[in-house]
Amino acid sequence: MTLRLVADAVFTVDAQDTMLLPGAVEVEDGLITWVGDPWQVPAAVGTEVHQLGGLLMPGLVNCHGHSPMTLVRSAGDGLPLDRWLSESVWPREARLEDEDVYWGMVLGAAELLGNGVTTTCEQYRHPDPVTEAILDSGIRAMYTPGIFDVPGAPRNGWEDLLEEACRLFDAMEGTDGRLHLGFGPHAVYTVPREGLRDIAGEAQRRNALMQIHLSETASECEQVRERYGMSAPALLESEGALDGRVLAAHSVWLDEADLATVARHDVAVAHCPGSNGKLGAGIAPLRALLDRGVRVGIGTDGPASNDDLHLWDEMRLAALLARATATDPAAVTSAGALRLATRGGGEALGLPVGSLEVGRPADLIRLRTDDARFTPSVTDAELLGHLVWAGAGYLVTDVWVAGARVVEGGRCTRIDGEQARAEVGQRARRLLGS
Ligand SMILES: [Zn+2]
Repeated sequence: MTLRLVADAVFTVDAQDTMLLPGAVEVEDGLITWVGDPWQVPAAVGTEVHQLGGLLMPGLVNCHGHSPMTLVRSAGDGLPLDRWLSESVWPREARLEDEDVYWGMVLGAAELLGNGVTTTCEQYRHPDPVTEAILDSGIRAMYTPGIFDVPGAPRNGWEDLLEEACRLFDAMEGTDGRLHLGFGPHAVYTVPREGLRDIAGEAQRRNALMQIHLSETASECEQVRERYGMSAPALLESEGALDGRVLAAHSVWLDEADLATVARHDVAVAHCPGSNGKLGAGIAPLRALLDRGVRVGIGTDGPASNDDLHLWDEMRLAALLARATATDPAAVTSAGALRLATRGGGEALGLPVGSLEVGRPADLIRLRTDDARFTPSVTDAELLGHLVWAGAGYLVTDVWVAGARVVEGGRCTRIDGEQARAEVGQRARRLLGS
């Protein structure tokens, strides 16, 4: 069955940032088969045509998150990263059971989908409930199970977690077109040197993505330098850990040499401006990364450090901070900001998502435009401006992932968002120890 979706505006975010007013997208077997002016080619006999109105665009791509942390949303507000983790987050996570994680991920997926995010890159432990929730919800995910080794941290050391991640990858990669697997060493300061080397080796053998938190805070960078006599990117390079597919979350504190290292190894960056702001970590050098040709996407990070999963805010913050720090309103254009949250995210993850082009997965969202935020729209440029500078999750009405409608009229079709809220609300009390 071919599906034709017709809208008043279609933002393709293709290489030319083509906008169609009006436009249509055809979908068959989960893939985009045609994009164009709806008057140009009539729908073939048997095609199901949906006159949607509003605006169609690629689903947003969240490049870094720990969505089950909806269970600890807002924990430890006001603490710096090290104390936030050790005093507030890890003690609660030590009490987590699989069913808690399942509901945490379901709630995260409902929030992401409801706000127009069709792909999320996740790093968390408890692979069974995380993958189950991803598959149940209908979202597309790059899941890199967390691997770390912290004194006093919950349960197993890095070696057990690496084994678990290998088993998961070998059993499940390729079994569902929406679930992509990788490896998630937490950071240079939480995984020993030999662990970084071994994890990267396993990822490289499988041509899998390795996602790591990199140079997030200044104090963490000082610790790494004291321990190893070099920066985190230099250490990873010395262990051969940058030779495969690598996604570096944060990348706030990169000096010239680090920027060169990241660019030389084609390391992609997940820029998380909201989380970095809330934890007082700093502002990542977005413009410098883009100038060096680094693939950059945008991430929400976990809901304990953000605290929502609204990528619209992150996209806007990324562009605002880049313009403000450069004192240049052209530092990131409106089209450039939209690209970071869509196509750029797909490129950072190495997935063909984030643009509406023939042959790509049919991951798309429809926004209503009968709202003050889109009024007036006198020119095409203004419509783009409204989307970037005033776009919001509440305007997303419908979401398709791999051609399946997973949000219809603002409600998730495969999971029960209200039940997830009730489950998480109740389970969070137990995690607090009360
Ligand atoms: Zn993170």
